[in-house]
Amino acid sequence: MSKILVCGAGGFIGSHLVKKLKSEGHWVRGVDLKYPRYDETFADDFIIGDLRDPNFCLQVVDQKFDEIYQLAADMGGAGFVFVGTHDADIMHNSAAINLNMLEAARKRNNKNIFYSSSACMYPEYNQLDPDNPNCAEDSAYPANPDSEYGWEKLFSERLYLAYAKNYGMDVSIARYHNIFGIEGSWSDGREKAPAAICRKVAQASDGGEIEIWGDGKQTRSFLYIDECIEGSIKLMRSNWSGPVNIGSDEMIAINDLAKMVIEISGKDISIKNIDGPVGVRGRNSDNKLINEKLGWKPSESLKDGIIKTYEWISTQVSNKKQDI
Ligand code: NAD
Repeated sequence: MSKILVCGAGGFIGSHLVKKLKSEGHWVRGVDLKYPRYDETFADDFIIGDLRDPNFCLQVVDQKFDEIYQLAADMGGAGFVFVGTHDADIMHNSAAINLNMLEAARKRNNKNIFYSSSACMYPEYNQLDPDNPNCAEDSAYPANPDSEYGWEKLFSERLYLAYAKNYGMDVSIARYHNIFGIEGSWSDGREKAPAAICRKVAQASDGGEIEIWGDGKQTRSFLYIDECIEGSIKLMRSNWSGPVNIGSDEMIAINDLAKMVIEISGKDISIKNIDGPVGVRGRNSDNKLINEKLGWKPSESLKDGIIKTYEWISTQVSNKKQDI
């Protein structure tokens, strides 16, 4: 049994990670500003507090942990990170968390730390063609992310690598590509495209219409939460740091994703494309490196994950649950 710390354990990926680590039999401490929203926490110990406070970080890392997963960040979907109104908070809050947690881990001689970066750190100029985006790990520089969220991720990646170089920290860095699934934000303003589309379709009546941001030709790939957790744990327990993509390489245009959800719902719904925050034109996970280094890559089809997610969100909608 290992002792494991999960920062951001009240969030989407963190709460799923805690469940998985508990199912493996470990002792887990979770930390967040809030408890998980859709289920009780499975952590043995859950501390509510603000990781922007360096003293709080030291309090949280009060013992030897075998693994620390740092997932806490001020983040959300396109409606949160691409609108510009949250940029200062996103950069300040997430950078402060990473600075403080790394320093607390170093001071307490806790060397083994995982960091969740994002595909949003890749340069915009390689993601202009929706059919041929380049997100190979070595395409990161010269840097030009299209959002402040992406710049913070890039800065923090470098911070973790600098702590590895100068202080011998054993860091693992994943670049997540659009993680989705059950028990994630679906209508609180931080939801991402798959959850937002599932909600719109679940709320629409048969014969109705849903709105999709942009022209719908922008492409992305989406990774189901269970595979994200599997890849993250594999990376953490490997003797390799990354940074590496953890994402699906099943690229799809957003209108086609909407059509997939509509088909799953069994309803007759039309799509209306409207102006909205969309981010880069195309993005897909390049999985060559993870396959080469870890002998692993995700394999579940997008449709299988969407079926589970649509079912969960439509239940939330029909039970008139709030997501705030
Ligand atoms: P999330 O918003 O559900 O979880 C992040 C958690 O961090 C939240 O519960 C939040 O309360 C917590 N947090 C924020 N500020 C805090 C603070 N000051 N102190 C303590 N806790 C704080 O997001 P998620 O989808 O679970 O993402 C987890 C990590 O993965 C984040 O670093 C995110 O940037 C990264 N990521 C996620 C995706 C994705 O598609 N979900 C894609 C790329 C990268």
